[in-house]
Amino acid sequence: MKSIMQPYDRSRGSSCYLCQKLNGDCWDKYTEEHHAIGGTANRKLSEKYGLKVRLCIYHHREGPEAVHNNINNMRLLQKEAQIAFEQHYPDLSFSDIFGMNYLTEEDRKPHKDKIGQGFFLMEGDKS
Ligand SMILES: [Zn+2]
Ligand SMILES: [Zn+2]
Repeated sequence: MKSIMQPYDRSRGSSCYLCQKLNGDCWDKYTEEHHAIGGTANRKLSEKYGLKVRLCIYHHREGPEAVHNNINNMRLLQKEAQIAFEQHYPDLSFSDIFGMNYLTEEDRKPHKDKIGQGFFLMEGDKS
């Protein structure tokens, strides 16, 4: 499954999801694939649902900002993954499938950091 969090082409270099998000750096560099939701079962589910991103070494596994060393950055990706999942699969329940819920009420408030990209209620099905 292709990533639903970040468009990238496997055959080429890509930008690092966190360099781009945190520093606005979208240069291509050496990156590795990271599954946003870890653990034996959930890693497979991350693959199945496309919850993965490309990260540079520094943001993946080496140094203080690496997601595997830094719980805040790990949690950031988990929240982003859940948001992407809920937008992409509105009929599925993230918490049922992954057994986790990373989003607090605060996270769900629209217009928190991205103006115009809040959550919109869909028209209920009337059929
Ligand atoms: Zn990076
Ligand atoms: Zn990883």
